[in-house]
Amino acid sequence: MHDPVAFRSMHSSRFGAEPAVFVGPGRVNIIGEHTDYAEGFVMPAAINFACLAGITPRADGKIVIYSENYGEEKSFDAAALPAQGSRNWSDYPMGVVSILAGEGHKIPGFSLSLWGDVPLGSGLSSSASVEVATALAVLSLLNASFPGPVLARLCQRAENEFVGANCGIMDQFISINAREDHALLLDCRTLEYKLAPIPDHVALVIANTMVKHSVAGGDYKTRRAESEAACAIIASHRPGVTFLRDATLEDLDKWGSEMAPKSLLRARHVISENLRTVACCDALLRGDLAEVGRLMAEAHTSYSKDFEGSCVEADAMVALAQDLSGLIGARLTGGGFGGCTVNLVERSQAAAFADALGARYTAQFGIVPDIHICHASGGAHPIV
Ligand code: ADP
Ligand code: MG
Repeated sequence: MHDPVAFRSMHSSRFGAEPAVFVGPGRVNIIGEHTDYAEGFVMPAAINFACLAGITPRADGKIVIYSENYGEEKSFDAAALPAQGSRNWSDYPMGVVSILAGEGHKIPGFSLSLWGDVPLGSGLSSSASVEVATALAVLSLLNASFPGPVLARLCQRAENEFVGANCGIMDQFISINAREDHALLLDCRTLEYKLAPIPDHVALVIANTMVKHSVAGGDYKTRRAESEAACAIIASHRPGVTFLRDATLEDLDKWGSEMAPKSLLRARHVISENLRTVACCDALLRGDLAEVGRLMAEAHTSYSKDFEGSCVEADAMVALAQDLSGLIGARLTGGGFGGCTVNLVERSQAAAFADALGARYTAQFGIVPDIHICHASGGAHPIV
């Protein structure tokens, strides 16, 4: 767990001044995978793992960023900001700085400390947690603020344009706009959202397969290109279709034969996932947890079989959870090809569930998985 007091004194002793501190949470996506960049629906919740950003002004015109996770300091000239990333962790905070500068803000020199306990590269969005915490920190220096959805878009652009990772807006949006004890159904087209309560007796158990993924990696890009190719074929018949969000399963029946077989499968995942995600929010609002679990199971199968976005270890982590007591629903979460599964579990049985799942996974793969019992947290904020 992060300790803001220790973090503050770490920054003070390194940079010689007491920082303003901001927190940006990571997130777990309960349902809605690879739908965000198709302008569809996602339903994440923020989690109680986060990035802390501490900031103090500097008089020498330098931007000095220290990541405690990496034990490394990077230095830049505020008057000559880099135009693009350098394939380093500092791309994430500097991407935010660069986008804010591009929006016309004059960036002063500052010292920024970062520390996070969101596992890196595990699908829980440590990247958005860094961007969002950094954005709040830098905006505090500028005495500026943006409405949540606008800030989410700026942080997404930092990752798209500066880091070079083709992510959608979900991660940044939930990190900023989350509400404690709620999931958030987000319409990635309009950025309208709806909160759905996660009952007190339900825990979010996140099981890390310990297999690393990378959003910048080729598989994510290939899947995205395949589903977009399917969309282009539907659009050639129905010009109103600009994203798979606009397409229906009937469109696939009509024109799927014109698509490459893989494109058809990817599109079937995205289109059916949009339907499931909206239905899952409705089920949560009604308190129908059995339906939530059923939809999560269906979503995992679709992600694994149609989208081929899973891996042996993640499929096993979901399968091994099925007959454990307390399970409501389980699926692979995040960009895919590894990372974590999300399990909705009766809170009273969550500890036993986590132990049993970990033991089973270790017996099968010889890997000890990190398993976290989480709750849905609120969005990014200053720590006073
Ligand atoms: P995910 O968002 O699923 O954790 P990404 O590949 O999108 O995975 O982002 C992980 C990257 O974000 C790390 O490789 C690192 O560059 C950066 N990052 C995350 N947390 C920190 C941190 N506390 N300090 C510095 N960089 C971080
Ligand atoms: Mg990320």
